Amino acid sequence: MLHCRTVEDVVAAIKSGDRVIPRGGGHCFVDRRSPGDVLLDLTGLNTIEVRADGVATIGAGALLGQVYDALHAAGRGLPAGCGETVGIAGLTLGGGIGLIGRRYGLTCDRLLGAQVVLADGTVVDCDASCEPDLFWALRGAGGGQFGVVTSLRFDTVPEPITTRISATWVPRDPEVLVAVWQAWAPDAPDDLTLNLTIDGPRAILVGASLLPVEPTQALLAEFADLVGTPVPFELRAGMPLSAVKASFGEAMPDERPRIRSEFFEQSLSDDVLGALIGGGRLAFTAMGGAYNRIAADATAFAHRNQRFLLETANERSWSIAHADGSGRVYPNFPDLSLTDGPAAYHGENLGRLRAVKQAYDPDRFFNFPQAV
Ligand SMILES: Cc1cc2nc3c(=O)[nH]c(=O)nc-3n(C[C@H](O)[C@H](O)[C@H](O)COP(=O)(O)OP(=O)(O)OC[C@H]3O[C@@H](n4cnc5c(N)ncnc54)[C@H](O)[C@@H]3O)c2cc1C
Repeated sequence: MLHCRTVEDVVAAIKSGDRVIPRGGGHCFVDRRSPGDVLLDLTGLNTIEVRADGVATIGAGALLGQVYDALHAAGRGLPAGCGETVGIAGLTLGGGIGLIGRRYGLTCDRLLGAQVVLADGTVVDCDASCEPDLFWALRGAGGGQFGVVTSLRFDTVPEPITTRISATWVPRDPEVLVAVWQAWAPDAPDDLTLNLTIDGPRAILVGASLLPVEPTQALLAEFADLVGTPVPFELRAGMPLSAVKASFGEAMPDERPRIRSEFFEQSLSDDVLGALIGGGRLAFTAMGGAYNRIAADATAFAHRNQRFLLETANERSWSIAHADGSGRVYPNFPDLSLTDGPAAYHGENLGRLRAVKQAYDPDRFFNFPQAV
């Protein structure tokens, strides 16, 4: 593994001729190394500068915990994921789904520009007007495909004060709970995100609200009414985004998570739902809101009309749910079992992505199975 501290280190590594695999947080679900590839550890490039106008320049090796803390110190926030040691670059390059994304969009939707070292060692700055195709491709196609990003420039938001939402209980009828969740959560007001996990007999709801406490409680009461049995919500009001993120900081797995996942444009049918409950763990993430108000071809992230994302580690559960799925897969949840990964990750954007790849990396210096 090569440790980079400067852009010049990255250029030197690329010019050495060895094929490199950039690494930020190191949480990619699959090992993309081929024999002889050199891992380029970028965590030394982690400076974070926030301007008075809220534009933040973040070193590509920064981890989410560092990003939230540095932005908090400047009174700013960024819609991004949970998981304190997830890398900002890996997350952003594949999209970036999080607890305030239904209000503010994907992490990549807040990206204003990036500095990238290309396959020939050239350093380029790209944004909407300079190298626009490269900038387009960096917003959601997934990392490691067009160059090594060394820094990212974001349009941050004033740090929201949120109400943290959680509930863990054994629901009387998990099927009804999922049916209600899938009809309700993707259409909830943008300011409220509620994600659901079914784990054995337990149900776990986690979320955040940008609304004042009373309307938050009213919305959650509406949800519980639809479920028909009490939901033991725990609310913690007045938490800055950075505190909510730290509180949800999952224990990071030592091994790569082996999950299968898919986006859903519509609710699971009753038959599928009936067959699904009682099988493997199911994690549902609400989409909709600002995620879906951007055209599917405006950035490389192609999944702009989806209601939710479902993850499971159980192959059989995945097969059952897949009957109702959109066939689309989040590029940040790579899955080597897919029969046509690039089509699932990129949909209609695949053609333009291939053209960008040809323009910026015609010899496929950056390559791995399922790459564009
Ligand atoms: C515990 C956990 C929680 C998660 N939570 C969320 C969540 O809330 N929301 C969400 O959207 N996703 C989430 N993810 C998925 C996460 O977005 C992806 O795993 C992401 O790719 C991780 O990025 P990384 O930098 O940590 O990993 P890495 O393995 O370092 O990088 C991932 C990919 O990006 C490439 N890459 C990394 N840095 C660069 C760079 N500077 N330039 C070019 N390519 C680069 C790598 O080569 C690799 O292909 C989670 C993952 C885990 C394990």
